[in-house]
Amino acid sequence: STKAGLGEWDGVGKTSDGHRVKVLGNVGAPGDAHAAADAGAEGVGLFRTEFCYLDAPAEPAVAEQRMAYTAVLTPFAGKPVIVRTLDAGADKPLDFLSPEAEPNPALGVRGLRVAFDRPDVLDRQLEAIAGAAADSGADVSVMAPMVATAAEAAWFAERARAAGIARAGVMIEIPAAALAAREIFDAVDFVSVGTNDLAQYTFAADRQLGAVATLNDPWQPALLRLIAWIGEAARATGKPAGVCGEAAADPLLARVLTGLGMTSLSMNASSIHGVGASLAAVTWEECETLAQAVLAAPDPGTARSLASRKD
Ligand code: PEP
Ligand code: MG
Repeated sequence: STKAGLGEWDGVGKTSDGHRVKVLGNVGAPGDAHAAADAGAEGVGLFRTEFCYLDAPAEPAVAEQRMAYTAVLTPFAGKPVIVRTLDAGADKPLDFLSPEAEPNPALGVRGLRVAFDRPDVLDRQLEAIAGAAADSGADVSVMAPMVATAAEAAWFAERARAAGIARAGVMIEIPAAALAAREIFDAVDFVSVGTNDLAQYTFAADRQLGAVATLNDPWQPALLRLIAWIGEAARATGKPAGVCGEAAADPLLARVLTGLGMTSLSMNASSIHGVGASLAAVTWEECETLAQAVLAAPDPGTARSLASRKD
């Protein structure tokens, strides 16, 4: 289908000269998964599993988790799906897991850090995910949220492999992890950049606070320079690097991220067509040239206008 101003998209993410960039869906429940599949997502780049836990008074049993995940994975039978393990803590506290009150929850025991104290909870989730992969026929990988170091990435990958899951990756959403991208790639099969948190931690600006929203603009050249560093590591190691934060849903920024070496972009269902069409309208070389120009821009406004000019 064609949408005004967006052009055509044939459902396979690529530039006009055939450089592949997978266009994937972000999902968090069965309804989102059907919407993403209907919108033409080539797979799922981020399945947020929190929905299964958030309203639960206690940890859901493995069998219950397995059924819940299967319902989300089924629309993507035969397609790649990245399941993110529980991202609890900070803005998503869980009664049965979260530590006592922390002075700065965004900097506290959240994401994978919860699993260092409670590896049994992670192992049961991995067991449920492996079961759901078998039940649904989806091509499942797992990834961990809020990873800071290569050692943490290696710890997670080892547990995922022990659970029989073929591929393990991590999110890069902490600046230290971006700077350690090369070592992290050596420990895992892929990475996915969470630009919402990466912006928050790079600019020391709460992602939920309107007063600092201009700092959390995904067109900030400093944020894009971190992504460029990750892209370099992806090229050097030949491993995939995706983006699953809000940045990936902007059709013009999608071109920049492609030019920075990202190999997949994952977004809400409503953005899939626009991003696919935007990539199909430019060459790989145009994306690379645009990326270099945007990296050198002094501010987000200039970066945006450089990208619009090429549209
Ligand atoms: C992100 O931080 O960019 C991300 C995709 O994860 P979440 O928004 O769930 O924290
Ligand atoms: Mg995040």
